[in-house]
Amino acid sequence: MSSPSKSTSTLSQSTAPDTEMDQAHSVLRSVWGYDSFRPLQADAVQDVVRGRDSLVVLPTGGGKSLCYQVPALVRDGMSVVVSPLISLMKDQVDALTANGVAAALVNSTQSMDQKRETADRIRRGEIKILYLAPERLLTPKTLAFLRSLPISFFAIDEAHCVSNWGHDFRPEYRGLRILKEQFPAASVHAFTATASQQVRDDITEQLQLHEPRVLVGNFDRPNLTYRMLRSDGKLNQIQQCIQQHRGESGVVYCITRKEVEQTAAALESMGVRTLPYHAGLAAEIRQANQEAFIQEKVDVIVATVAFGMGIDKSNVRFVIHAGMPKSIEHYQQESGRAGRDGLAAECVLIHSGGDLMSWKRILENGDRNNFQSAMGSVEAMASLCNGVQCRHASLVEYFGQEYDADNCDACDVCLGELDVVEDPITLAQKILSCVVRLKERYGVAHTVKVLTGSKDQKVIQAGHDQLSTYNLLSNEGANAVRTWIEQLISQNHLIRTGEYQSLRLTESGRALLKREGDVTLTKVSAKSSSRRPAANASWEGVDRQLFDHLRSLRSEMASERGVPAYVIFGDAVLRELARVRPTSIDKLTHIRGIGDRKREEFGQLFLDSIDQYCEKNPLVRDQSDNTAPAPINKPRANTAPNAAMVQAFQLFRDGRSASEVAEKMGRAESTVSKYLSDFIQSENITDPTQWVPKEEAEAIRAALLAAEDERLRPVFEALNEEMSYEKIRIVATCMKNEMADDADD
Ligand code: ADP
Repeated sequence: MSSPSKSTSTLSQSTAPDTEMDQAHSVLRSVWGYDSFRPLQADAVQDVVRGRDSLVVLPTGGGKSLCYQVPALVRDGMSVVVSPLISLMKDQVDALTANGVAAALVNSTQSMDQKRETADRIRRGEIKILYLAPERLLTPKTLAFLRSLPISFFAIDEAHCVSNWGHDFRPEYRGLRILKEQFPAASVHAFTATASQQVRDDITEQLQLHEPRVLVGNFDRPNLTYRMLRSDGKLNQIQQCIQQHRGESGVVYCITRKEVEQTAAALESMGVRTLPYHAGLAAEIRQANQEAFIQEKVDVIVATVAFGMGIDKSNVRFVIHAGMPKSIEHYQQESGRAGRDGLAAECVLIHSGGDLMSWKRILENGDRNNFQSAMGSVEAMASLCNGVQCRHASLVEYFGQEYDADNCDACDVCLGELDVVEDPITLAQKILSCVVRLKERYGVAHTVKVLTGSKDQKVIQAGHDQLSTYNLLSNEGANAVRTWIEQLISQNHLIRTGEYQSLRLTESGRALLKREGDVTLTKVSAKSSSRRPAANASWEGVDRQLFDHLRSLRSEMASERGVPAYVIFGDAVLRELARVRPTSIDKLTHIRGIGDRKREEFGQLFLDSIDQYCEKNPLVRDQSDNTAPAPINKPRANTAPNAAMVQAFQLFRDGRSASEVAEKMGRAESTVSKYLSDFIQSENITDPTQWVPKEEAEAIRAALLAAEDERLRPVFEALNEEMSYEKIRIVATCMKNEMADDADD
């Protein structure tokens, strides 16, 4: 990969930007292929390019990375990104490299040689963005090294880790306060997805930011559809949701490891491509399962909350919680892993009254000092689950912002999926009067027993079977009554008080007893048929089969390179390609999310794939953004070579090398190399030496034989990155032919 100077220098020649912000826009366009910054992003970018310290709070998927990656290419010198997770750093560096940006990381998994090589590249000024963990950054050796360099700025990712008020305090982050002292010329920029006012102040103070601008984005995630379902045949509910997202990536979160194992096994037996993930699995298995998910070899990962930190996969289309999370903060973070690419995604939470008790037991065995506040968080979460207010509004308001739309059109409440009780006031009166008769001294469980006419000893001994409200709701079942009590709590008609969490009426509860005020209560199971298919708008005009076709090509390219699929192209780009169906490289410049480097490297391959598909399945090409889909006939599977391929095959037959063919056809070498491996495969060639010198072919062959799987990247690395992917692919294809021949024999 070349250094970023390529993109920035091309830029300065062609557009001669006047200001840094013009440059930033040009970089956004040429490197990332995006037309504009999101509203708050533009401000955040401006602060970094102008060197003003800043703190940016944006939700997951809000686009924080670009706030520092774009300025890194605009400013002189090298920028340093501090990040706590090795896996995240690696994904980001892979993604930047794929866009042609010279980025690097240094971490403990690298050899001395690798580290030395990176240091040399840094000294030569070849690296624009360096990723480091705080522990490494703060060693005297690294600090001294960095002081000898022109550092433009530091970006501190996951900056809430600096504060012990936050939910993920990391003591090593505290040391970052010395950056302002040791690098007075560099600006410091903090980024986080969650930070209360207290945490924000603490970050500013701890990092000694100088007159920072604090930018707080909107916490709402409009592309997520939230549904909170009362548990009613949980496995079935999970399966139904997965069916709506057939072939798409999703995460199912369970509370315990045992549940993870059971759910994963059950889903697998139903034919879902799934793997489990929890802290009880061996590290290699966890790693392998995580990679299989990221590279889309499986669709669903069933996991405890141990899964997700450091996962940047942008096209997670659904997150299911098979139990209630322990706080709204956790819920926001875990559900937030859906739809990072901004396309529609669904978050389904399946909860039951028992979840609250499970958390209570778990927390009782934990840190007793924190018990009360932790239980408070669990109750807030329970209240959200049982609430009947718009979920988007509830979440945003919980984080201290206002939600101004009346109907979000993206949650079970606003979509009218809750099956409401017809006369809720009478029902509420029955429950509230029972609480009054119990002298407001009993908790939820006992109240449920009395209302449903339980013969429980405690009820009988207390004489509660003599109350007029005893057995009043016996036809409804304990589960339903418990839900209604939770709903009365979440609508603030009842509160839990004291050590025993006794129920007490609030003022509005007393008013309701007199039929004053309003309440909404829902039936236990939601209407089943009202689920709208997720993601309607973002699929408009997209040929789904072409999308799948392109997805397989992406998956092939990703596993060859050993990078996550989204590093090649995100789902939004694939959908756009399957909607517009462009016919030339030039037309790709209008596809959002394809920058210069990727257009050069992958553009022709994807165009060929579209050509192939459209030759067999005639579809109108070069659609504009607003044109409706125009399928002429039903798409069929297709493998026919296109015109460019036929031409390339002929040139290979004439004995031309890949670079000669590339030049003759005016195509990128990577494209021609793919044609060549198709050619080798179709002609069943087993000897690669026509294209790869014998000695090199032998070395590659040995490395391929030693490899554990079919990915080319480990082979590329085993060969010290000295052989090109093209050569490796040629030898690999010949070997496959040879093996197929052997098998035939
Ligand atoms: P965060 O770090 O805040 O979770 P990311 O930086 O991962 O968010 O960005 C989320 C997604 O949004 C990525 O797929 C990214 O490419 C995309 N994105 C970011 N900024 C823009 C933009 N200005 N236009 C279009 N897409 C963007």
